Amino acid sequence: MTSKPQIAIVGGGPGGLMLARLLQMRGFEPTVFERDSHAGDRPQGGSLDLHGDTGQRAMRLAGLEKEFSAAARPEDQGDRLYDQNGMLLFDRDGGDDDRPEIDRTALRQILLDSLAAGGLRWGSKVEAVNPLAGGGYDVVCGGTAERFDVVVGTDGAWSRVRPLLTEVKPVYEGVTLVELGFDAKRHAKVDALVGGGKMFAVGDNRVLIAQRNGHGHIRGYAGLRLDENAAQEWTAEEPARVRATLMRIFAGWAPALTSLIEAGDFIAVRPLYALPIGHTWQSRAGITLLGDAAHLMSPFGGEGVNLALADAVDMANALTSGEGWQAVVACEVTITERARPAAEGAAEGLNSSISSGGVAAVLDHYRERAGA
Ligand SMILES: Cc1cc2nc3c(=O)[nH]c(=O)nc-3n(C[C@H](O)[C@H](O)[C@H](O)COP(=O)(O)OP(=O)(O)OC[C@H]3O[C@@H](n4cnc5c(N)ncnc54)[C@H](O)[C@@H]3O)c2cc1C
Repeated sequence: MTSKPQIAIVGGGPGGLMLARLLQMRGFEPTVFERDSHAGDRPQGGSLDLHGDTGQRAMRLAGLEKEFSAAARPEDQGDRLYDQNGMLLFDRDGGDDDRPEIDRTALRQILLDSLAAGGLRWGSKVEAVNPLAGGGYDVVCGGTAERFDVVVGTDGAWSRVRPLLTEVKPVYEGVTLVELGFDAKRHAKVDALVGGGKMFAVGDNRVLIAQRNGHGHIRGYAGLRLDENAAQEWTAEEPARVRATLMRIFAGWAPALTSLIEAGDFIAVRPLYALPIGHTWQSRAGITLLGDAAHLMSPFGGEGVNLALADAVDMANALTSGEGWQAVVACEVTITERARPAAEGAAEGLNSSISSGGVAAVLDHYRERAGA
């Protein structure tokens, strides 16, 4: 690796943008390829909590602590748990926690605003990455190939870069989330249900979730076990039909809870996929992965974005270390080892939240975490 390699970052999500920011701070000029045509191209998803030693640390090292604090919502860290009859079993304020929430859109905007002009190419979906005989890789975008010394795949679940390193593909986890949106002012009952942060209502193999976002929005999810074919069909189904099917599946739940399904603006159907826990790959000079591209997991552990940001810190250190590719190889070990316990937690969270055992296991988990 030359001392200032030409670096392509494929994917302008949190991981890719953080890496670009940190590299620019050290005088590098990476190119970020992002398939979205602009920042508002598609809804970016709900609220994320940044953890002290990973997400928050990355923001600090990127010199973005002030911007993060200004946009973060420490007041929205509460947890509520209901059973399917609408009985409130657990209610924790969370005001003293140190995992402030931030809207995904706001986080992305902070990172975008931090980049020097010209480093990010919008509307640039990478179609292929091809190794070159003399070293380096062609990144193919819009039918045009461009050579880079180093390619970092930060392109999420369905990475185009990952297949150059491994044949492993994400596997469906048997659970699908239907995403719903609410305006808190227009939906006073949903607003009251959620409390100061996030609520889960857990029943036999089904879950309803709602979480406070910024700007008076609430994001909800109806989660259920569904086979993969059905889940894929749902993604193409008319929203009204998905809603009607959900109402049948959640029949018998308290009306205050099913009002989430009835009243929410329909956003998306999201079948959940994950890479195998501990996923790793044979290192290959000049090409690597981080974030979801490296260790996709279900959102039930709340770690994905934190890992992506922490990975970016380690990758920026490795790429600028002057120690050649062996520093990246060591970084890949760090990335995969850090992701392993998080992936175990995410799998456990998914399987206890959506299980035939109902709410009891989740209640135990909440009490344990609260030290009750
Ligand atoms: C419903 C849901 C809720 C979640 N909740 C949480 C949570 O509460 N806490 C948490 O920590 N994590 C959560 N996550 C996970 C979190 O969103 C991810 O772990 C995180 O976004 C990973 O960041 P990333 O940069 O690696 O990838 P991504 O955020 O997926 O970004 C990848 C980027 O690459 C771009 N891209 C993809 N393919 C190409 C291509 N071929 N060419 C160019 N660009 C491309 C995409 O447009 C995107 O901008 C949640 C995920 C989901 C689905």
